[in-house]
Amino acid sequence: MIPIAMPFLENAEAEAAHQAVLSGWVSQGPQVAAFEREFAATVGAPHACAVSNCTTALHLALLAVGVGPGDEVITASHSFIATANAIRYCGATPVFVDIDPTTYNLDPRCVAEAVTERTRAILAIHQMGMPCDLHALMAVANRHDIALVEDAACAAGSQIRIDGQWERIGRPRGQIACFSFHPRKVITTGEGGMLTTSDPECDRKFRLCRQHGMSVPDTVRHGSRQVIFEDYLVIGFNYRMTDVQAAVGRKQLERLPDLVSRRRAIAASYAELLGNIDGVALPVEPEWARSNWQSYCVRLPNRVDQKAVMQSLLNQGIATRRGIMCSHREPPYSSEKQHHDLRQSELAQDNSILLPIYTQMTEDDVARVANALRRELRQ
Ligand SMILES: *Cc1c(COP(=O)(O)O)cnc(C)c1O
Repeated sequence: MIPIAMPFLENAEAEAAHQAVLSGWVSQGPQVAAFEREFAATVGAPHACAVSNCTTALHLALLAVGVGPGDEVITASHSFIATANAIRYCGATPVFVDIDPTTYNLDPRCVAEAVTERTRAILAIHQMGMPCDLHALMAVANRHDIALVEDAACAAGSQIRIDGQWERIGRPRGQIACFSFHPRKVITTGEGGMLTTSDPECDRKFRLCRQHGMSVPDTVRHGSRQVIFEDYLVIGFNYRMTDVQAAVGRKQLERLPDLVSRRRAIAASYAELLGNIDGVALPVEPEWARSNWQSYCVRLPNRVDQKAVMQSLLNQGIATRRGIMCSHREPPYSSEKQHHDLRQSELAQDNSILLPIYTQMTEDDVARVANALRRELRQ
């Protein structure tokens, strides 16, 4: 069986977790602080704040830029549902706009057309690890003086060229970028998330809100020779990462360059083995983007039955997934009137499949998947 994805975890991670457990400090503590410093250095961000997952990161990010009841946030429907849900957690309304069919990312022209006087933020997604057009989206955000938040859940290790320089996603271009360490992403802590920003005030808000609004963190009180009483300054949340998770994350972060280069090699093999099939569109990197290939998405010809292809591959021991979901088709969002055309989003969900991609995949596995798909499409 070739699975759709597999985390890359070895003895180094198990040993790090073991040490964290034996240290006597298992919730948010010194390992979390070290993971934050190392993540910030890796992506080139002045601040990084670890949280329990990317959904909570998105929630804190939107709150930090002032999203609240009555506000609109422009985003893609074509994303994991957590993107839209985080907007709803703030009492705001997601305004879904369409994607560019070649990158599966927000089309900046659609975003520009959707701005109203109620728009508070743009929530842009680096879908499947492919950098979105930050340059164009920043221009829209700046023109209208609205915040740009990046859902970088899938994009640890992806790169973008801005002003002639390559940089990692997470070096703050929007106000805040949010990452996920779920096992389906390129590096994992089981569950986990990270917020990066260059705004110290945003970072202060994240730290306050992830820990119940507590004025003095428990780590500080624990280490103090003086008795300190804490205050609870705002209604916060418990969005903490544990030290066991962070210890694993530090080891994963060391592997990030190797994990990404292996994925890039697999994507290059797929591109070679699946080239020139009539009606099939392979994913394309804009020349200013380098994906970490969190997912590899193939668009099938219109004539083909997506589910039948997936079932046939599954019968041959190859797991696939259909294209990224559309939130506006799910019950929590389907009753809302959609004001913008979402045709490309729906087509992408209905006509695409995700192929297996993970570090341990051998060249033989890649060839097996490619050959099986080729056979399916020869009709
Ligand atoms: C995975 C994912 C999320 C949610 O991340 P969690 O860490 O599981 O909360 C949010 N947005 C996108 C685009 C994702 O792919």
